Amino acid sequence: MSYTDEVLERVKTQNPNEPEFLQAVTEVLNTLKPVVEVHPEYQKVSLLERLCEPERIISFRVPWLDDNGQVQVNKGYRIQFNGAIGPYKGGLRFHPSVNQSIMKFLAFEQVFKNSLTGLPIGGGKGGSNFDPKGKSDNEIMKFCQSFMTELQRHIGHDCDVPAGDIGVGGREIGYLFGQYRRIRDKYEAGVLTGKGLTYGGSLARKEATGFGLLYFMREMLKANGKDLNGKKVLISGSGNVAIYAAQKATEYGAKVVAMSDSNGCIYDENGINLDVIKKIKEVERKRIKEYLNYVPSAKYYEDKDGFRNIWTIKADIALPCATQNEISLDAAKTLVANGVWAVGEGANMPTTNEAVNYLLENKVLLAPAKAANAGGVATSALEMSQNSMRYSWTFDEVNAKLDGIMTNIFKNCKEAAEEYGFGNNYVAGANIAGFKKVADAMYAQGLI
Ligand code: NDP
Repeated sequence: MSYTDEVLERVKTQNPNEPEFLQAVTEVLNTLKPVVEVHPEYQKVSLLERLCEPERIISFRVPWLDDNGQVQVNKGYRIQFNGAIGPYKGGLRFHPSVNQSIMKFLAFEQVFKNSLTGLPIGGGKGGSNFDPKGKSDNEIMKFCQSFMTELQRHIGHDCDVPAGDIGVGGREIGYLFGQYRRIRDKYEAGVLTGKGLTYGGSLARKEATGFGLLYFMREMLKANGKDLNGKKVLISGSGNVAIYAAQKATEYGAKVVAMSDSNGCIYDENGINLDVIKKIKEVERKRIKEYLNYVPSAKYYEDKDGFRNIWTIKADIALPCATQNEISLDAAKTLVANGVWAVGEGANMPTTNEAVNYLLENKVLLAPAKAANAGGVATSALEMSQNSMRYSWTFDEVNAKLDGIMTNIFKNCKEAAEEYGFGNNYVAGANIAGFKKVADAMYAQGLI
């Protein structure tokens, strides 16, 4: 049995009830075989076993009082997965589905993603099974304050720097930062990223993940003799990543014809009006169905999780930007049958391993999440730099750095894939390119 297979078996035995975590580890280890073969020294120091075990899992109680005066109790997590190349860095997710397996898969992927950015940041992730939907501003604030009252003892600008993710946007980061500052009694701006512009946030952070996805897509398509101009695009989700992916895709001349939320998807053959989506989602915090009130000619398909129907629409390119495992094997088959020839993962692990294999076998160009959505965390790291300098770059300066980082990430994924015989399998390229730096740092730092 190869070293990677041995480690995979070990991880499966030790984490039997964590399907998402096992899915993420399986994909990575299966692509690392040729790298590990040329580095026999890694096996001698059990490097892969250590890479697959978080440095620390913090799990805590989050009690808070709702608007009816009732006590509510949620679970809180912070996984500090790997700090070999820098302070732990990764978002906070507030969603009822959050559990330890989901937190661990996200933190594990973050290790490779952060390494790919070329910036000095380790991997972490956190969150809660708190459901922000339907909660008042007051309840959101109380929850965030209670969450931070515990989390604050585990984070810091040189130690662990959280940001947003599903259910955690500018409003939540504001409440979290306020409580941190109040408890710690110092202005440590670099402890959280995704902050508002009046208190240490970076221009272009809000746009960064979606824009970065499109910069990566532009490079990937260019390397394969294609481009975005005039192409029909499907984008799942209508949150932070989806909205700014749609904006940049439209700027590149593509036509975004469908978007979704967890209740269903809209189809607008004339191209989605993003101003309407921003109003519904960023201002009114309503359901995507409302789009029909503004554009009656559009169509709405309701379903139980928001990604049953969207992948059945004919298009050239699919950008999953909602959540994990939204493209199943069946969905991948439908996409291919309908002529989709490129997929760009804005969400984390949106494609099941079976679906990834199917897409690659059918010559679909696949931009893997670890690389393609790294623009968010890269710009978070730029926010940390600005906080350290007590200085702000302009939108254009940050955006240009982001573009440079994404272009470089694509180049590194391409070169790693080619070097190890994976052709234009950028999933393998991303895993290998991300792994090399972390492995090297772990090896240099001894048995930690
Ligand atoms: P948001 O909370 O802003 O938006 C999530 C969107 O996905 C919403 O439209 C949501 O609909 C929809 N959705 C559909 N089904 C689900 C489901 N089962 N679970 C959760 N959401 C669902 O999140 P983001 O846009 O920030 O994040 C989207 C994805 O991108 C996630 O996978 C995240 O990890 C990843 N990502 C985000 C980064 C960032 O900078 N924000 C950086 C890198 C990756 P509804 O409102 O109805 O729930």
